[in-house]
Amino acid sequence: MESIDVVVIGAGAAGLFCAGVAGQLGRSSLVIDHAQKIGEKIRISGGGRCNFTNLLTNHQHFLSMNPHFVKSALARYSSQDFIELINKYQIAFHEKHQGQLFCDGSATEIIDMLMHECEIGHVQIQHPMKVQAIEAYDGLWKVSTEQKVYLSKNVVIATGGLPVPAIGASDFGLQIAKQFDIAIIEPRPALVPLAFTSQIFSAIEDFAGLSTKVKISAGHVKERYGKGRFDEDLLITHKGLSGPAVLQASSYWTEGQAIDVAWVDSKIFEELLNEESSRSKTVDQLLIEFIPARLAKEFAKQLDLHGKKWAEVSKTSRQQLINLMCHWNVKPAGTLGWNKAEVMLGGIDTKELDSKTLMSRKHPGLFFIGECVDVTGHLGGHNFQWAWSSAYACAHSLIN
Ligand SMILES: Cc1cc2nc3c(=O)[nH]c(=O)nc-3n(C[C@H](O)[C@H](O)[C@H](O)COP(=O)(O)OP(=O)(O)OC[C@H]3O[C@@H](n4cnc5c(N)ncnc54)[C@H](O)[C@@H]3O)c2cc1C
Repeated sequence: MESIDVVVIGAGAAGLFCAGVAGQLGRSSLVIDHAQKIGEKIRISGGGRCNFTNLLTNHQHFLSMNPHFVKSALARYSSQDFIELINKYQIAFHEKHQGQLFCDGSATEIIDMLMHECEIGHVQIQHPMKVQAIEAYDGLWKVSTEQKVYLSKNVVIATGGLPVPAIGASDFGLQIAKQFDIAIIEPRPALVPLAFTSQIFSAIEDFAGLSTKVKISAGHVKERYGKGRFDEDLLITHKGLSGPAVLQASSYWTEGQAIDVAWVDSKIFEELLNEESSRSKTVDQLLIEFIPARLAKEFAKQLDLHGKKWAEVSKTSRQQLINLMCHWNVKPAGTLGWNKAEVMLGGIDTKELDSKTLMSRKHPGLFFIGECVDVTGHLGGHNFQWAWSSAYACAHSLIN
């Protein structure tokens, strides 16, 4: 048996960062991962450029049963703190939109940085290695792997969520919670494209690849995570709807509900319709001021208004057109599931954890950080910021 100050399970964003910080605080640290390649989610993130944080990150960008839970960790280690680290490594980056920061080069620069931070902290990294059991043992934690048994006062579960099992995702965190009688919030795929069984357009193939800015909303104030509203791009695909707008809305969507899409700003649209000069224009001509021509034609056809002059459109049809353009209500059949989701909603119930330390309230020395916790960020770098912030709070709170 080998004694060590902290065993971190999972060498992803949160696990590597936590071990590096703990190591540099003088704690002997070991990270164990079952995957052949570690940090894979970082590598594939942000289209290979890793949207590593967001300048605007605050608690309002997270879904959790307790929306205040993230505040303490985010205040202790903010996006500015992570940017300082990035600058120290001279990693070039740029802001895309709404505060999203991406590497100019490649996401592997972030992985290299984390590995270097671990090196400075003399962190041992073992992979691929399977953890066979975690047990309480004489006031310590006994972590049994295929090759060795470790004894430690601290075990950190940083095994992430269920998305993309092909690159190492597992339900390890949820299983450990079950073993130690720790409550979980039922997991659900989030930041995920939405699928439709019935055809939402006459032939969706004709529209695949089409992208346009919309206002979208999903969920309900009285539901698990409330209502989400976003102004982003919507992308039509062969399978349904995607793009940032739909990914964001998917986190708030539940089975059986409709999502609400406004293709146009209702005030501006109605103003245009009321203009005298609009009377002689066709419906298609009016719509293409706001949406791509192919979509304009489809919508005009759906209401039997294709080629019709605005002055000739009945009051009922006018209202139908306004509804279609400002409140397109469609019911997704489901999501594209764990293979296509970027994050997991739900996870370890935040009631079970101390928000300052991320330690289990029932089991001293057992920590949960990163995506396995019921904290899910909006699209845009917030999820990585949660990984860094929760890891930092944990590394500074290990039991001596
Ligand atoms: C395609 C894609 C793009 C994304 N892009 C962004 C982005 O640009 N910005 C952003 O903020 N977020 C992004 N995310 C989300 C982000 O990747 C995650 O929120 C983040 O990686 C979570 O960090 P984590 O350390 O908790 O988990 P992970 O980074 O997933 O790490 C978990 C680690 O645990 C290991 N593990 C799992 N099970 C076991 C086990 N049983 N035993 C041992 N090890 C185990 C895994 O192999 C993995 O190495 C993206 C996600 C995806 C899927």
